[in-house]
Amino acid sequence: MNYPQMRLPASHVEKCRQWAQDIIDSRRGGSPSRSISYSKDPDIFLNGRLCEVVVCQYYGLRASEALNWSFQQVDDFDLQLGALKIDVKSSEHAYAELMPYSVVRTDAGLYDGGDFSHLLMVRKVGPDEFELCGWMTKQDFADRHLVAPEGHPKAAGWIPGTWYVPIEWLEPVEQLRCYRGPYVDHAGRFVHWCQHELCGREAGRGFGVDVRQGRLGRWLCPDHVNL
Ligand SMILES: [Zn+2]
Repeated sequence: MNYPQMRLPASHVEKCRQWAQDIIDSRRGGSPSRSISYSKDPDIFLNGRLCEVVVCQYYGLRASEALNWSFQQVDDFDLQLGALKIDVKSSEHAYAELMPYSVVRTDAGLYDGGDFSHLLMVRKVGPDEFELCGWMTKQDFADRHLVAPEGHPKAAGWIPGTWYVPIEWLEPVEQLRCYRGPYVDHAGRFVHWCQHELCGREAGRGFGVDVRQGRLGRWLCPDHVNL
């Protein structure tokens, strides 16, 4: 399986590193956090944030606007893609084959109560390189997840009871691009995604477009234009 890969510019990595360190420093003063994912390790925050920025880059969102950069982190979705509320799951291991959900959170009722609609997994494959492994709906994950037993060979260090799915069960990230809607990219181009079912590739032609009437039309990629 080939997953889409993204590389982050050094300036993005540095911004995330500073933010992660600032969060840790802000907590040293004892300011209470609403998040239960409390950690003293800036690398935990750094990797999670880098993976969220990667998702923004992939879908053409501005990370500075799409993500919560305040130090008050909340345990709901990380970013919105149209109406979808995405909780990004990150792994710092290039060989990660499983997408887990924290047992601390499920035990605290944060899975059922959490305001998110989709889980999306990103894994780190190089110092500034990442792979977008796929997504699953909240409902699907709740219905289909496996439960880590004691001493799972591929889940060393996990707390028994952790919910997870193998990443080959995830759906391709391309499919969610149509939820993003059209947007103007960094080069100033107006980009549309193919709206044929869940294709999501870049669309070349639009039908029934009338901007003056506010009609954006239906856009299709070269493979689906003649269907
Ligand atoms: Zn298509």
